[in-house]
Amino acid sequence: MNKSTVLICLFLFCPFIQVKSEQNLLVTENISDGLTCIKDPKDFESSNSFLLKGNQDVDFLIDAGWSDKVKIPENIRLTIEKSYKVTTHFHFDHIRQWYKMKNIFLTEQQYNACEKKSCTPSRWQTIFKIEPFQVSGKLSEIQTEHLNTRLVTVSCRGHSQTDACFLDKKTRTLFVGDLFYRGPMFHFLPGGNIQKTVETFQSLLRRDDWDRIALTHGDCSADRASLAMHIEDLSKILQGKLNWTFNLDFWIPLRAYKVSAGYVLTHLVF
Ligand SMILES: [Zn+2]
Repeated sequence: MNKSTVLICLFLFCPFIQVKSEQNLLVTENISDGLTCIKDPKDFESSNSFLLKGNQDVDFLIDAGWSDKVKIPENIRLTIEKSYKVTTHFHFDHIRQWYKMKNIFLTEQQYNACEKKSCTPSRWQTIFKIEPFQVSGKLSEIQTEHLNTRLVTVSCRGHSQTDACFLDKKTRTLFVGDLFYRGPMFHFLPGGNIQKTVETFQSLLRRDDWDRIALTHGDCSADRASLAMHIEDLSKILQGKLNWTFNLDFWIPLRAYKVSAGYVLTHLVF
């Protein structure tokens, strides 16, 4: 290759290569002091993940759903590597990266859903080819300042068989997984249940120790009023007061209800 070819190559291709590599990075959004929302710009099926900066010893990564098409930005790579990983549930778009991670801690129910320490969540998950991941232990077994006084596990049901919700007392943020976000909300997968979702939300709204919900799809966060409105929508569905349309987007016949936060999808009989 002669000198001019090299120069042309540098001028023409290097900016392109640089732009391309920037596009292949996860996007981060600071939603509160020490709380970062991590989004996958390459795959809109991926969930948002959240990095919670700890006080001293341990940071937490809540969910890790990005695809292999994107890279972790250098400024958070080490923090993510060292952080304790927890998840809101075992769906592929929330734990897709776990097969290459360590420090994975599970709630009691999630732990019981794994047959052994090298966990393959369930037969249903194999459809999505989740790689087995190494479990470090149960959340209840690790005693850190954060787990005792800051990040607490909150009981929740209604989206999947392995639902777990978390509350960060410092940033007053609730992590409810796929129980609530803006977009099509799935209540038709195993463990999905609108009644249980309403009960979960009613008990969460009785607490006064949070102001914000971290959202796993689309926007990164919502306020209490959005959740209150969603409870009203779900209650109307249960009472038969909302109209629905027939939906086949997911290859099975479903009901689609238009609600203030997007759509609620259920089985034809629920
Ligand atoms: Zn999801």
